[in-house]
Amino acid sequence: MARASVKNDVRPVPHGQVAQLVPLLRLRHLGDRVFDYLVPSELAERLSIGSVVSAPFGSRTARAVVVGLGRSENSDIGALRAVEAIEDDIVPAELLSLAHEVAERYLSSLESCLRLVAPPRGRERPAGRARPRNTWVVPAGTPAGDAAAAGAGAGGRRLTAKQSAVLDAIPPEGAAIAALLREVGVGSGVLRTLAVKGLVELRPSSAGETTTAGERLGRSDDRESLQPPRLWPEQEEAVAELLKAYDAPGFAERVLWGVTGSGKTEIYLRLVARALEDGTGAILLVPEIALTPQMIGRVRARFGDLVGVLHSGLSPGERLREYRRIAEGKAPVVVGARSAVFAPVPDVRLIVIDESHDASYKQEEEPRYHVRAVAEMRLRPKGGLLIEGSATPSVESMAQTETRLRLTRRARGSPPTCEVVDMRRQGGGALLAPRTREALAETLRRSEQAIVLLNRRGYAGYVHCELCGHVMMCASCDLSLTYHGGVRRLVCHHCGRTYPQPSICPSCGAAPLVRGAPGTERLDRELRMMVPEGRVFRLDSDVLTSGTRARAVLAAFAETRPAILVGTQMVAKGHDFADVTLVVVADADTGLYVPDFRAAERTFQLLTQVAGRAGRAEKLGRVVVQTWNPDVPCIRMALEREETAFYQQELELRQRLGYPPCADLIRIMTSSRESARAQMGIQFLLERLSAHFRPGEIRGAVRLPVLRGRARWHLLVASDDGRRARALVGQALAQLREPYRRKGVALLVDVDPQSFM
Ligand code: ADP
Ligand code: ZN
Repeated sequence: MARASVKNDVRPVPHGQVAQLVPLLRLRHLGDRVFDYLVPSELAERLSIGSVVSAPFGSRTARAVVVGLGRSENSDIGALRAVEAIEDDIVPAELLSLAHEVAERYLSSLESCLRLVAPPRGRERPAGRARPRNTWVVPAGTPAGDAAAAGAGAGGRRLTAKQSAVLDAIPPEGAAIAALLREVGVGSGVLRTLAVKGLVELRPSSAGETTTAGERLGRSDDRESLQPPRLWPEQEEAVAELLKAYDAPGFAERVLWGVTGSGKTEIYLRLVARALEDGTGAILLVPEIALTPQMIGRVRARFGDLVGVLHSGLSPGERLREYRRIAEGKAPVVVGARSAVFAPVPDVRLIVIDESHDASYKQEEEPRYHVRAVAEMRLRPKGGLLIEGSATPSVESMAQTETRLRLTRRARGSPPTCEVVDMRRQGGGALLAPRTREALAETLRRSEQAIVLLNRRGYAGYVHCELCGHVMMCASCDLSLTYHGGVRRLVCHHCGRTYPQPSICPSCGAAPLVRGAPGTERLDRELRMMVPEGRVFRLDSDVLTSGTRARAVLAAFAETRPAILVGTQMVAKGHDFADVTLVVVADADTGLYVPDFRAAERTFQLLTQVAGRAGRAEKLGRVVVQTWNPDVPCIRMALEREETAFYQQELELRQRLGYPPCADLIRIMTSSRESARAQMGIQFLLERLSAHFRPGEIRGAVRLPVLRGRARWHLLVASDDGRRARALVGQALAQLREPYRRKGVALLVDVDPQSFM
């Protein structure tokens, strides 16, 4: 993709000029067509490449992005319709070319990628309600006389004359920013640098402060002081290494491998501070904002209003307001989930992916991008540093050993003790073994907290007949139904359809149905019988209807002693509860036998992550893991913390089998209401692609479970030349997609797939 060719052309468009638009409509059959529209003269002056416009499309008005000026070869000028209106916000040139690049890399439509970079729709809250923030500045408890020394400590540099002058001019009770800057005669950049160094604090004007949902979410906790702490030796080394990589010309990537609590966030903050000192921007990506409010709080506490926050909990108005603050350079630090990698920060030189192993970093709808690859695309042209931080980096990240930094020290506490409970010896169908119950009881007696993980939702994972073996299945999916006690129904976890549970087996009619594979709902009930009222909290997607709810559950748990938090993998995410001294994994095997080459990796990561929740403070932590497979290597190695050995073994396996990072994968799937068509579709593709690839590079085709009434087949292309493979697959798809569609066969392509369901 020729990056240089896309420019926000500011030349006014002459009257009668033509603009090329991509409508932001999910219309597959349009492919990647651009459409020519006339630009009326009254709009011409404001229109440029990257403009977002509305234009008539078919019988409706569509939002569209201007991707070119001038007529495409085959349009008939007499028949063209005209652009109707232009929005205020523009897609910056950098993001426009990023969208092109993402579309090419992931074999996606340009339209789906433009949607990611287009300004949000909405109206900013009317002035008066959205109070101007960042209007007050106070000294951050540092006498001005010590400023030079503190400055040297914080940023590693001495204060300039201007910075000192500003510091001297601020009275102890603070000053209004505008007046202060006028008085000293400097720009706001000076103040910003001082804030970054922790020498001043920027505050909203105090009168009648209103808060939005986003701000409440990001409220800093009191523990975080404005003064950055002195770095630990390990951190110091890591920061030095990272600064070196950041300063070096070109793109650099580093993996920061350290357990939760080893001080990664503090390291990120130092790097962000440096980017701000340079007058550039930074993006900090976190997995799910709802579950990680602590991070926003800490970044805000350090950088105040220089921080923009993008997450799904914002109202459209708030989102637009944040977008504009970011685009205008007022918030050069952005914290957000996956899509924040597209935030319009003017000059990004630093991108941090926190908990980089998290599944949410891959988008599972078109464009199926992975945030790591997009971050790299974004930084490469101008140079910059990409940091991936995790206690359990992916095998792919770990393969790049030369760029790895290790943190071993924990802020407080020491590694927990691990015990395995071999469920084969327990007999009976008890969900919790006697030893596990004892451990829980002990924790409760000491008025401490426990986390219990069971990575299966609902009451029972399947319902079957003990006599004939019949399993209750979804009528439109090839999946067994899960019993949910809350609604007292069988639920399909794929399509959401629900069914009553028959009292007698519908197949043999001779026996009642029994419930197998207990889930969080059942565990929750069992724990409630052990524990006094109000002390068991559940966290899974059934109890969470929104992010607000997740925070409420976590906040309530945090304040209760003793207490138990039970849930799915959500409970393993970076929470920091000082009094959690026990972690129980009720079934370590839930993720083992899925048809996915990453099954072992995921199990290893989940066990390592959840174990990291125990004993975060002074009290010693204990981890009890129930498993039917104590000898399975990934479980054993997670419990014995043989991390290096695990990665080594996993890499050898990937090498032998030709999976990432030792090969690039593309997954192609056909689906159709008619089983034979889906199969014919994949067969034809298989033959066509086979001509271009070596045997073994194409795996499949394989039939997949029917979902939502659609028969599905897939094949995998595993190649050590990803670029060539993508080009070949891309060509085939471009030719076949439309004819397939007309035959009722949908084609789906997933470059670097993470899921094989
Ligand atoms: P991680 O991001 O790896 O989980 P954090 O940066 O959150 O680790 O650090 C864990 C805890 O240790 C936090 O409470 C943080 O404030 C504290 N901390 C981190 N670095 C330092 C330091 N250099 N001095 C004192 N406390 C620190
Ligand atoms: Zn279903």
